[in-house]
Amino acid sequence: MKATLAAPSSLTSLPFRTNASFGSKSSLIFRSPSSSVSMTTTTARGNVAVAAAATSTEALRKGIAEFYNETSGLWEDIWGDHMHHGFYDPDSSVQLSDSGHREAQIRMIEESLRFAGVTDEEEEKKIKKVVDVGCGIGGSSRYLASKFGAECIGITLSPVQAKRANDLAAAQSLSHKVSFQVADALDQPFEDGKFDLVWSMESGEHMPDKAKFVKELVRVAAPGGRIIIVTWCHRNLSTGEKALQPWEQNILDKICKTFYLPAWCSTDDYVKLLQSHSLQDIKCADWSENVAPFWPAVIRTALTWNGLVSLLRSGMKSIKGALTMPLMIEGYKKGVIKFGIITCQKPL
Ligand code: SAH
Repeated sequence: MKATLAAPSSLTSLPFRTNASFGSKSSLIFRSPSSSVSMTTTTARGNVAVAAAATSTEALRKGIAEFYNETSGLWEDIWGDHMHHGFYDPDSSVQLSDSGHREAQIRMIEESLRFAGVTDEEEEKKIKKVVDVGCGIGGSSRYLASKFGAECIGITLSPVQAKRANDLAAAQSLSHKVSFQVADALDQPFEDGKFDLVWSMESGEHMPDKAKFVKELVRVAAPGGRIIIVTWCHRNLSTGEKALQPWEQNILDKICKTFYLPAWCSTDDYVKLLQSHSLQDIKCADWSENVAPFWPAVIRTALTWNGLVSLLRSGMKSIKGALTMPLMIEGYKKGVIKFGIITCQKPL
């Protein structure tokens, strides 16, 4: 979950990868949301462009780490240890209590497992090792370790999150099962084929290279292992459509700046990437309707006395971030933002 801080101005010139370039090996298109300037380059020959891309990826990584270092405490105080959307019944008009939202966040984990086919004891028993890619403060890892009796390793870019996640594991007597470290999802410090469950809950949207991201998820999955990606996507493009409409892109660009996101992709894009690795049982779904109550609830908590005081204490960047939250609601309502789940299994 992207909490409430805005990007420093230095990041507004960060090159963002567009959807149109997705999947192309020879060509990358960089685009700055602030300037709307586009530049096409060929990686095989363009050393300068490659260096610029490396620098911008580094800037993004640093920005994400700082963002979560600064905001995770505030989020935990108000929302607890799960930094992801809740899963609700569609059209539910019930104004939920805090515990209702907490239950919805747990339900998100359960529905994701169910969707991926982890539905009975037989399947659960197969899950002995889990990697939580983009673990936040480790809510999913601790939940999955307790549920399956599995060993979980979580990775995050934020040292503050990794420490807090380890402290919470110790407080819950789970340190023998669960551990957290700072590592990059695009270059994971694990051997091939290690994990029976590769779990990425709302971290994919931060990844500047979706192909590399998926390749790493597939690499660390054990034969027969499952991969679950739950992530913010843009809508699928229609046949013949090359890019989103400018007004749609405009909404996403504003969200990118605040929440440290590179260019978005669609669930179709993820499916194509998974297909390119010959994975089995590839499935995806649009859960946008099931998460609809979430952002209005986050905004309501920000508008409580406690929320406002915390927000004001965090300063202008937090306030700007909070002001971006209605854009998420608008993006969902207008159909440009989709909450996607994509799952598959690595062949035996
Ligand atoms: N999955 C968690 C947290 C989601 S917030 C939960 O559901 O509670 C997004 C997380 O992705 C943050 O922990 C952030 O550090 C992590 N992240 C973003 N880019 C990453 C990268 N390249 N490598 C590792 N973690 C990353």
